[in-house]
Amino acid sequence: MSVATASSSVQTEVAGHFDVLIVGAGISGIDAAYYLQKDCPEKSFAVLESQGSFGGTWEFHKYPGIRSDSDLYTFGYKWKPWVDAPIASAPEILRYLDEALDEQDLKKHIQYKRKVKNASWDSKAQQWTVSVENLDSGELQTFSCGFLWMCQGYYKFDGGYVPDWPGKEKFKGDLIHPMEWKEDYDYADKEVIVIGSGATAATIVPAMAPTAKHVTVLQRSPTYFSPGRNKNELADTLRDLDIPEEWTHEIVRQQILKEGGAIADLAFAQPEMLKEQLIGVVREHLGDDYDVETHFTPSYEPWRQRLAFVPDGDLFKGITSGAASMCTDHIESFNENGILLKSGKQLDADIIISATGFNLCVLGGIDFSVDGKPVDFSKTTTYRGCMFSDVPNMAWVFGYFRASWTLRADLISELMCRMFNHMKGKDSAVVTPTLRDMDKNMASLPWIDPDNFNPGYLQRGMHAMPKQGDQEPWIFTQDYQLEKKEFPAANLDDGSLIYS
Ligand SMILES: Cc1cc2nc3c(=O)[nH]c(=O)nc-3n(C[C@H](O)[C@H](O)[C@H](O)COP(=O)(O)OP(=O)(O)OC[C@H]3O[C@@H](n4cnc5c(N)ncnc54)[C@H](O)[C@@H]3O)c2cc1C
Repeated sequence: MSVATASSSVQTEVAGHFDVLIVGAGISGIDAAYYLQKDCPEKSFAVLESQGSFGGTWEFHKYPGIRSDSDLYTFGYKWKPWVDAPIASAPEILRYLDEALDEQDLKKHIQYKRKVKNASWDSKAQQWTVSVENLDSGELQTFSCGFLWMCQGYYKFDGGYVPDWPGKEKFKGDLIHPMEWKEDYDYADKEVIVIGSGATAATIVPAMAPTAKHVTVLQRSPTYFSPGRNKNELADTLRDLDIPEEWTHEIVRQQILKEGGAIADLAFAQPEMLKEQLIGVVREHLGDDYDVETHFTPSYEPWRQRLAFVPDGDLFKGITSGAASMCTDHIESFNENGILLKSGKQLDADIIISATGFNLCVLGGIDFSVDGKPVDFSKTTTYRGCMFSDVPNMAWVFGYFRASWTLRADLISELMCRMFNHMKGKDSAVVTPTLRDMDKNMASLPWIDPDNFNPGYLQRGMHAMPKQGDQEPWIFTQDYQLEKKEFPAANLDDGSLIYS
């Protein structure tokens, strides 16, 4: 349906009503669509996606070597076996998602080049009105829906975080953030500096090193890396035994989750021991003569930031071959030829890559209002890290950082579908998380405990994020081992969800 209605400057189309609108066709949006179709087949739904194709993060980023740092047995869906090496490139992930969409016949539900601009809830009509820009025609479209399922990710897509380094504008080469990378960008025989040593740097450096003249990783302080082979021996054994892929997928998932849980436990119980283990493996790769103390010994405890996996030690191979090197120092200023460091050393470059992270984004930067009142999410309290106090009929998928994001997308999808069916049983159209009397004096805590997990982008954006409380169901633990039990057992009639 598309009835054009008058407007002074832009046309407004009435584009249709759906029971559920999913925003974003990345891993989470596809997951939401799958569960909705399976568990609530009577619900009409559409997926609105601003890019020209599905895949979200994996469609958007084009920098050299882009790959997951989670294994695809757990980063892939519970419901679709992963049949390759655990760490996958963006094209491999997109192929997997393409297959998933075809197998489940979900493509017909996705509308591309549709950017959601604002959403307003009307309690009388019991629905959201969603204003959407058609990026092909420039027209504004209006959708309405009973429930908004926000799967738009957690960072801004219109540019990454680039610190305001003094003299940045003087550099005569190219200063590029990985989010802006153009696929055909030529860096052959160029002197490259990569600023930052997180997961993006761990990916981009080994991918560029063989082609560039040299790649220098400039870091203020070291990061933990976890080198390992990009294969899963248990999966290979099960395949040798002709075990069905569905079984292999599930068994390997459980193995990886168990090992991941043990590492997380160790990180909190005996951080020094884990630190020694992680650094010891790096030392094995780089040899006794390498200055591991300066370049690979972080000052923070392991697991407080994401652990960057290095498949087959490729980053370290780049360093030992001489194609890449580490520099641990602080930037004094940029100049024409490169970067002057606080130590007084000058690093010259043709290209500087700012692998300095993201800008956190609360619900896609979309303007939300409830009955005409703008919603300030920093004033809301989260229900289980996926809904918000006093915001009716809306969920947000925010995954795990230490475990695979998708594990949480699956848990939220199952919870939402259970909630929809619960509401059907009660003949109610609206669910609003609401603080009970007993919750009103509880502590108001940051979205994620900074002592527990503290990467820069979270610290920079935390003030704008919703709050969590200190009692159920207002806690957001980021702990898969806890939530995998709590979500399926969640009592939907504990008084914190008001139905009408
Ligand atoms: C380079 C990189 C590597 C990562 N690697 C891992 C990893 O190995 N393991 C892991 O667990 N996590 C990883 N992450 C985190 C990662 O973002 C998530 O795991 C996962 O891909 C998120 O999926 P998503 O669907 O929730 O969000 P996204 O992938 O961010 O997709 C959101 C989609 O919503 C669309 N959208 C946003 N706003 C609007 C709007 N207003 N209107 C319409 N559409 C909109 C976007 O265009 C996008 O397609 C990585 C992140 C990055 C950036």
